[in-house]
Amino acid sequence: MDSHIIQALKDIVGADRLETAAEELHCYSYDGIGQQFVPEAVAFPESTEQISKIMALASSKSFPVVPRGAGSGMTGGSLPVAGGLVLALGRMNRILEIDEENQLAIVEPGVITGKLREAVAPLGLFYPPDPASLKFCTLGGNVAECAGGPSAIKYGVTRDYVLGLEVVLADGRILETGVRTRKGVVGYDLTRLFIGSEGTLGVITKIILRLTSRPTASKTILLLFADMAPAAALVAAMLKEHTPSTLEYLDNTALGLVAGKLPFVLPAEAKAMLLVELDGDGQSVELQSSRLDDFLADHKEILLCKKAENPEEVEALWMARRSVSPAAFSLKPDKISEDVVVPRSKIPELVACTEELSKRFKLPIFTFGHAGDGNIHVNIMLDKANPEEISSGTQAKEALFREVLDLKGSLSGEHGIGITKAPFLGLELSATSLDIQQQLKKLFDPLNIMNPGKIF
Ligand SMILES: Cc1cc2nc3c(=O)[nH]c(=O)nc-3n(C[C@H](O)[C@H](O)[C@H](O)COP(=O)(O)OP(=O)(O)OC[C@H]3O[C@@H](n4cnc5c(N)ncnc54)[C@H](O)[C@@H]3O)c2cc1C
Repeated sequence: MDSHIIQALKDIVGADRLETAAEELHCYSYDGIGQQFVPEAVAFPESTEQISKIMALASSKSFPVVPRGAGSGMTGGSLPVAGGLVLALGRMNRILEIDEENQLAIVEPGVITGKLREAVAPLGLFYPPDPASLKFCTLGGNVAECAGGPSAIKYGVTRDYVLGLEVVLADGRILETGVRTRKGVVGYDLTRLFIGSEGTLGVITKIILRLTSRPTASKTILLLFADMAPAAALVAAMLKEHTPSTLEYLDNTALGLVAGKLPFVLPAEAKAMLLVELDGDGQSVELQSSRLDDFLADHKEILLCKKAENPEEVEALWMARRSVSPAAFSLKPDKISEDVVVPRSKIPELVACTEELSKRFKLPIFTFGHAGDGNIHVNIMLDKANPEEISSGTQAKEALFREVLDLKGSLSGEHGIGITKAPFLGLELSATSLDIQQQLKKLFDPLNIMNPGKIF
């Protein structure tokens, strides 16, 4: 990017909306994976029209453009691996419309997910997707990664709430996809194509989101087991008759990491934990809860069943669940964090596999995650200063991926492919699927300037 390009970018966004100073570039050279790639410039556009002009310039001068939300991605998606311009979308953070009657919201991509939830709550409305990062990640990043969270089991993930998009294409053209209505089947579903496209097909500049009615009551229940297998078996049986809003699990190591934060004393034999939440209106939660009590009473394999009695206990339980990831660094200074997904009946096999990998590669490996939908966070703990541990960790990761695919699972349930899983894409996708996807990429981005080096 020569001085003419930098000047042209300043002319588009304003001199104070373009950064080239080393210390500023440094701030935009990381995401959640701990690798660093420094951009040549960072632009902070404030409108679709500015982004359209930037993309037209990028096309004519052929420089890479990398969209960035909050930079909380876990696969390197927002890192400028080929240099070029980072398009920081945090200033496009307006909620443009909340349509109460038709239960939808139209937002700019830089809106923080939690802010939308807060804005619609007083209106009795609810935006369900709840990635653990919702207090700082953006809705644009959520759409680009198809983010999900604990409530996916009942409410689904980001893709289930996106009705339509405005996208600036690589050549600067502005494309509108989708509808403002609950139904709509005119033409190919281009909206879905952009969901999970990781910034490689265009820049999302507006999002039309479906909302639902807000649940007004909830109940949180902790269940403890002597082993993972009965916990997983209970999940399958429970979901036949009940619809919890979340159903999370912690394996033995994860439980040990946060036991001190739980509001209850654990039995010494406890080796696995389920966290169940029910939601709805007051009456329906009472009804669900009493039906669940009857179900749980029949399951003698449960060592301990505790209901949170007050908001403080609920918060303590969720705080313990959210603390697993940071607490892991007491085991080793670094981790390889994977978000594989398997059919939920296969969770015990996956847990057994990680225990075997831990022994084989002599590294601590533990799991926790969304038992209800089989999306398991596998954490391979290591010390990156030790080349042997890096090599063992990488081999363990590949062995894990192969096992996941043998179990008819998938390499990523939430975090996408980015750069960290790109070398393994061919393990899951057929040559035909890869070929079609690469042709789509070429159709939208013939010069390969939209977030190059990602996914493929
Ligand atoms: C502590 C922590 C907990 C997390 N928990 C979860 C979780 O529970 N569930 C989950 O799904 N993820 C989780 N994540 C991962 C991450 O928060 C999500 O992937 C989130 O959707 C990324 O949003 P972001 O705004 O940070 O996007 P970024 O990291 O900035 O970007 C992510 C990708 O989206 C692209 N992108 C961003 N904005 C746009 C746009 N407007 N147009 C086109 N492309 C765009 C980028 O190019 C990049 O490829 C977690 C991360 C952390 C650090």
